[in-house]
Amino acid sequence: QLAGTLAAPGFAIGTARWLRVADIAVPVDGQGPGVEAARLDSALAAVRDRLSAEDGTHAGATIRAAHIAFLDDPELRKAADRDVGAGRDAGHAWRQATRAQAEVLRSLGDARLAERADDLLDLERQVLRELTGAADDALAFAPGTILLADDLLPSQVMALDPACVVGLVVERGGPTSHVAILAATMGLPALVAVGAPLNEVADGATLILDADNGVLHVAPDDATLAEARTRMERRAADRAAALAQAAEHCVTADGVRIEAFANLGSVEDAVVAMANGAEGSGLLRTEFLFLERDTAPDAAEQAALYGNIAATLEGRPLIVRLLDVGGDKPASYLPIAPEENPALGLRGIRVALAMPDILEAQLRGILSVQPVGQCRIMVPMVASVDEITAVRAVVDRLRVEMDITERVEVGIMVETPAAAVTSATLAAHADFLSIGTNDLTQYALAMDRGNPAVAGGVDGLHPAVLQLIAHTTDGAKRHGRWVGVCGGLASDRLAVPLLIGLGITELSASPRFVPELKALVRRLDTAACHRLALRALAASSPREVRAMAREFCQELAA
Ligand code: PEP
Ligand code: MG
Repeated sequence: QLAGTLAAPGFAIGTARWLRVADIAVPVDGQGPGVEAARLDSALAAVRDRLSAEDGTHAGATIRAAHIAFLDDPELRKAADRDVGAGRDAGHAWRQATRAQAEVLRSLGDARLAERADDLLDLERQVLRELTGAADDALAFAPGTILLADDLLPSQVMALDPACVVGLVVERGGPTSHVAILAATMGLPALVAVGAPLNEVADGATLILDADNGVLHVAPDDATLAEARTRMERRAADRAAALAQAAEHCVTADGVRIEAFANLGSVEDAVVAMANGAEGSGLLRTEFLFLERDTAPDAAEQAALYGNIAATLEGRPLIVRLLDVGGDKPASYLPIAPEENPALGLRGIRVALAMPDILEAQLRGILSVQPVGQCRIMVPMVASVDEITAVRAVVDRLRVEMDITERVEVGIMVETPAAAVTSATLAAHADFLSIGTNDLTQYALAMDRGNPAVAGGVDGLHPAVLQLIAHTTDGAKRHGRWVGVCGGLASDRLAVPLLIGLGITELSASPRFVPELKALVRRLDTAACHRLALRALAASSPREVRAMAREFCQELAA
């Protein structure tokens, strides 16, 4: 049994198959600078055309946009041209240039930028295939394959056939990489950061991949395998039953209303959310609109996008989070200097307050959406009251300028320990509070959520995080505000009873989890959840909390 970090949830039984990809061979010396420059031009153009023409999921589109941005990067091209000018083969020159830049990204000490290096290496292969005519990476696998790899490239994941590959296990990798996002979108369970012991697993071994619990069982005995098969069947039946009732209202067994919302990044996500019975969106990650481009979107472009998503939700609430870029999510046109410690730097609402034009354009975009009020505004990374009062002042000024008489809700994300601890003070100024458990966990535990070295410890069910959540709901109650969760814990079935027991009344989960979330909530009794939560608050480790929650859920199922 090997341990890894959850990158995409799920459970699968299958046969191990290693993905081994050899470098594409290219000569060092070319046929002269003129010839090689022309070859490179046409290869880059061909890859760019192919990337622009493909359509598919939102995650796929975001990644292709990232690849196109690299193709257009003048520094990369300049480095390749230098080698071509010195008589090198176009493929050799392109490889040298991409690898040098990937090395730079890796050396910056930022886990997320290091993950972008994978995108560059991916692009190296795509261009070299174009230049040499090498066949596509052999990604045809037998049905029931669990793919093992030292590392995976985003385009390799996109090329997989989900009818054959049923799970991914990666020796290195990070839980927030593009590979993780893609796997989740494709519904493939995935574990990353499993480490060197993965190399002991041979091709053909039977595997049980329990991504939810972060374990890979290798060559299980017959009894374990039979148990896993039963579990798979039960999961499939549960999913079908949950989906059949996905459109129904979400209330607990004792009649407490819990809003089952979905996290969105695009119109496509909103379509999936609606099909899965989401009752609204508790988090629209607007930064997707701001990344991988040369200028900030203006108010009209933003209004069109938010309007489209609001229309897709057919009047259901849409909580639009203000831009959360900076540091680890760079937007080249925003003048943010490189930072020693980006997670503690200019990010979230700090960026918007430092760049009032960006904030104003975004608020105008949100306020333009009809009907006014369907969109609520959510402020990310709040640490102090001043930040919310500053945003509210701009909202009020714009309402006057835009002749808006309706009230527009302005809420905050609770992602810093400061916000959790002072929730009573903040709640006096905020219409609602939504806990971003991903960041709250990283800041409470002082563990970088993107760093594979500490990935195993970043668990939102740590009692320290639960105490902060309890503190937040207590503070909010004093002002009659509701508290939701839009971080990863809302999509974690063991966390749901605990969160409800701590007084959370809105859960914004990944769209595909909504049917299961609703089915689970309908079986919960809030008093029992509260008793469970009190025990969890006094527990001494996340492991102990998970054990309690597992037992609680098993009793529900019995
Ligand atoms: C969070 O921090 O929990 C959150 C929802 O925001 P993001 O994951 O986009 O940082
Ligand atoms: Mg966050």
